[in-house]
Amino acid sequence: MNTFFTPGPAQLYPAVPQYVQQALEEQFCSISHRSARFQEVFAHTTRQLKELMGVPEDFRVFFHGSATEIWERLLQNCVEEKTFHFVNGSFSNRYFQAARSLQLEAIKAEAEWGEGFDFEKTPVPSDVDLINFTHNETSTGVMTPLEAVHGFRATHPHSLITLDMVSSAPYGQVDWEKVDAAYFSVQKCFGMPAGLGVLILSPACLERARKLEQAGKATGTYHRFAAQAEKSDKNQTVETPNMLGIYVLGKVCDAMLEQGVDALRAETDEKARMLYEYFDNHPRFEPFVNDKAFRSATVVVVDMPADAPELMQFLKERQLVVGAGYGKMKGQQIRIANFPAIRKADVERLLEAIDAYPRS
Ligand SMILES: *Cc1c(COP(=O)(O)O)cnc(C)c1O
Repeated sequence: MNTFFTPGPAQLYPAVPQYVQQALEEQFCSISHRSARFQEVFAHTTRQLKELMGVPEDFRVFFHGSATEIWERLLQNCVEEKTFHFVNGSFSNRYFQAARSLQLEAIKAEAEWGEGFDFEKTPVPSDVDLINFTHNETSTGVMTPLEAVHGFRATHPHSLITLDMVSSAPYGQVDWEKVDAAYFSVQKCFGMPAGLGVLILSPACLERARKLEQAGKATGTYHRFAAQAEKSDKNQTVETPNMLGIYVLGKVCDAMLEQGVDALRAETDEKARMLYEYFDNHPRFEPFVNDKAFRSATVVVVDMPADAPELMQFLKERQLVVGAGYGKMKGQQIRIANFPAIRKADVERLLEAIDAYPRS
């Protein structure tokens, strides 16, 4: 069996095969999505996720098809004219491009790949409807400190703050008084099969969506936030959702809560420390992100201009699958996911194998 250090799809969280098996045995995938049993599962998953991430009672959890879909929904439901995007890699740029595609006035601040932002020196207009931050830019391994994100509430009280946590939830500790929406898809840190995007939404976002609708804006069709809120208040969804995904996510949250989110974060930090320490001391390979303040705890990107494909093949022969560099970095970097499904022993095994690579 391979161990996947790929940053999505990723190594499955332990016991996911059992959770799927349980759902099948219970015939959960054949029952109605309007049934009491589905409502029970919806309520359980929502409650456990909120507990895991410390989400306030009055926030809602909406289920979508992917994080990519969520970008479009946030833009359609919460933006009248202007959005602002901190772009420092492929994913943050795709959200910006989505805003352009919807013919919104999208503004971006850009950082070089591998670098973080100097937020104090980056002017953001005070009249933008929405500001998006990508907590963990999976393409570059740059993690933005959440304190910086939280600071924008005071300086931009009229803008909704949205946070891409696709490859960092539930590791990132969000102050929900300072963030209006955070979202992820389950095939990254939650170690699940893809096909479920999860949006945690504040009352302010919902209010904004309702106001725009009242003013005559088309906010979408089935995944209008107002329609989703109405259904989610009844522990239901508008459409026939990814029932299996919602079921399994509840179980994964149960298991993460059992470990404890503090322990999960500490374990992530410890594995990240091992990885960075190894590559900081390697004769030829080195972490892509120089500034330690911006180094991702969940996706470690390593520069190796001459070796990436060869090393990846060497590791693959040892049943260790790491991610390739993203886009233009393919061929000169590897990306190592440090998600909760990866145990300390897996990291040790990976580093031992890299050490045995002949050209190390
Ligand atoms: C993977 C990823 C996405 C896109 O997620 P999908 O589930 O493929 O839509 C968005 N943002 C970040 C940071 C990602 O890593």
